[in-house]
Amino acid sequence: MSKNYVIGFPRIGEKRELKKVLEQYWSKQTDFNEVKYVAEQLRKRHWNYQKEAKIDFIASNDFSYYDNMLDTTILLGAIPQRFQNLKDEELYFAMARGNETSVAMEMTKWFNTNYHYIVPEISKDTKFTLNSKKVIEEYKEALELGIKTKINLIGAITYLGLSKSIDNSDIFAHINNVVEVYKELLLEISKLNDEIVVEFAEPLFVKDLDTKVLSLIKPVYDALTNVAPNIKIVVTTYFEHSNEATKILVNTPIWALGLDFIHGNKNLETLELIKNSNKVLIAGVIDGRNIWKSNFEDKVALLNKISNVVSKENIIVGTSCSLLHVPFTLNYEEKLDSEIKSWLAFAVEKLKELSLVTKQFFDLKLSLEDTATIKRNVEENKQRKISSKIHNKVVQDEIKNLKVFERADKFQDRIKVQREFFKYDALTTTTIGSFPQTPEIRENRKQYKANAISKEQYVAEIKKYIDDCVAFQDEIGLDVLVHGEPERNDMVEYFGELMEGFAFTQNAWVQSYGSRCVKPPLIFGDVSRPNPMTVEWIKYAQSKTKKVMKGMLTGPVTILNWSFVRDDIPRNEVTKQIALAINKEVDDLQNAGIKMIQVDEAAFKEGYPLRIENIKAYENWAVENFRLSVSCAKADTQIHTHMCYSEFNDIIKTIEAMDADVISIETARSGNRLLKIFKEVAYKQEIGPGIYDIHSPRVPSVEEMVNQIKALIEVLPKEQLWINPDCGLKTRKWPEVKQSLINLVEAVKIVKNSN
Ligand code: GLN
Ligand code: ZN
Repeated sequence: MSKNYVIGFPRIGEKRELKKVLEQYWSKQTDFNEVKYVAEQLRKRHWNYQKEAKIDFIASNDFSYYDNMLDTTILLGAIPQRFQNLKDEELYFAMARGNETSVAMEMTKWFNTNYHYIVPEISKDTKFTLNSKKVIEEYKEALELGIKTKINLIGAITYLGLSKSIDNSDIFAHINNVVEVYKELLLEISKLNDEIVVEFAEPLFVKDLDTKVLSLIKPVYDALTNVAPNIKIVVTTYFEHSNEATKILVNTPIWALGLDFIHGNKNLETLELIKNSNKVLIAGVIDGRNIWKSNFEDKVALLNKISNVVSKENIIVGTSCSLLHVPFTLNYEEKLDSEIKSWLAFAVEKLKELSLVTKQFFDLKLSLEDTATIKRNVEENKQRKISSKIHNKVVQDEIKNLKVFERADKFQDRIKVQREFFKYDALTTTTIGSFPQTPEIRENRKQYKANAISKEQYVAEIKKYIDDCVAFQDEIGLDVLVHGEPERNDMVEYFGELMEGFAFTQNAWVQSYGSRCVKPPLIFGDVSRPNPMTVEWIKYAQSKTKKVMKGMLTGPVTILNWSFVRDDIPRNEVTKQIALAINKEVDDLQNAGIKMIQVDEAAFKEGYPLRIENIKAYENWAVENFRLSVSCAKADTQIHTHMCYSEFNDIIKTIEAMDADVISIETARSGNRLLKIFKEVAYKQEIGPGIYDIHSPRVPSVEEMVNQIKALIEVLPKEQLWINPDCGLKTRKWPEVKQSLINLVEAVKIVKNSN
């Protein structure tokens, strides 16, 4: 009997083989046959890992050259008009990345993960036809290797629900057409074997759905289960509970439901219904979102709890979601502290966990090796609890004894003191922090990390950059200067490396989009800041100018949202520790005479929960921790923050509650529309709406910027406004940056004089 189930496996390759070959192909260093070859090797390797780990349900069609949603768009033949003259891989990659004549399709975050998918473009004229053999071919490919896979597909409702309508027509008007294509595909699939399992992923069901969408579920799954008697249909949801949908799905003829019991604890509430319907339950208990070794005892206990309701024969043990969101394997981590390593499990290691938890839950025969691993698991979990690496009594006491959670002075009072102190009036110019990361800067960092140059040489190089950067800003007449962030590789990693409680891997890459991967830090223990992290650099920069130098930090919410976070204490506890560390940095900066400090919260919005019921708690958490991180700031220390978004409608009050004196935001592409939202709520604090888009190398003209500024001051008084670019300039080249900022300063001058 089949007992365990992996929703999906990462595909970029444990050495990022797919990334490398794709990038070679895109830069015309190799041909597509080579890409195909690498892809085939990877699929084979990944299937074999799962087979060796004794996984019963192994996915096919979880592979993708770029993205599964894009694959689905191809499968359904929903090709946007502008790509219609292309075919095969040219078509595929043009849709993903654009080409000379056509812009790429939009890309956006996959639920609350850091994975990004290609957004389908639908209009009322979109036609759906079965248009790809990928699903069939991958099944056959695995079968030839002796593996009978279950086939992964993205559910019709999720597919359409995540699409964008380009003509404002109703996207769900197409539901029957999509279902028709899927029926045709199922018929093809049914010919492949005696019995085949097909999984429809419907993560959309974990959102708060309106009744109209909910009403589609039954007809869709009634129809899909009616195609071929030898197909067993699974519907999976993940990242949250999907109770509303479960209530409907139990009344359809699907074979099994896959639910996430790690991030969707409330799924427990529908167990009774599942039991009564006699459906198979794929219980997602191995975490596909985090990297800590499972505690086997806890996992078995959770499964037992589930099996108190749903009978054991109807339970399959699964991953909470696809393992796409965790790194591949610990195998290449040579530098990671061995104790920390013993607490971790990446995708390959999770397979083994799944298999062992399955055996324990079902009382299957354990090998000697299994018994030893289980024993070790108990031991390692015990060790982790008491490890001196994790626990820092000083930090814990500090948190316990915290008395000040926010700034002593109210904004209305602070701002008067600040205006007096800094002597600025209206349309003050500044930038968001980073200046171009040049090849020289990267090389300098690399050499230093590899111990190829001395600390003195490294520092001298950085200082040289700061000298030039500050001199340039001074010369062109910006009001508030920055040091340019040449010492930072990344806004989270830089701070993580200087704090205790963080670990960094060599190879724990996770796919972010296409060939792009990120390597998030691991927060494994109590966080503290042994030494100041930025003070010397900022002080040095300040010494080079008479103007105000703005200090630059990353906020606690962003650090949390972009890391793998320990699971042995509440998340809020971890955040508080980070906030406290940032707080100390703020204090050191202000004591060193740095009186404007920006605490970036670039990932503030990214962490928003999927369910409305959890939003208040998230906002409270985020706001409280931001406030804590700057609570020591004196009245005449001006706190800035920065967020890279243009969608503030529903969170504007929360942003205001963060109580930063100045916030810079991304607005260039939305004119003054965004600012109106600030006006509507009579937003109190000062705002720096980005006046030009830094994502493109294009240099905006003075005239353009003048118009943009004029549009802004139509909405809000100029005294409330700062003038700056949309975001940091690190990805741009110096010539573009120079001209753009010269134009920005000039534009402000013109506007000021014309008033
Ligand atoms: N201060 C950072 C920078 O300028 C902010 C980056 C960001 O918002 N993503 O690079
Ligand atoms: Zn930004």
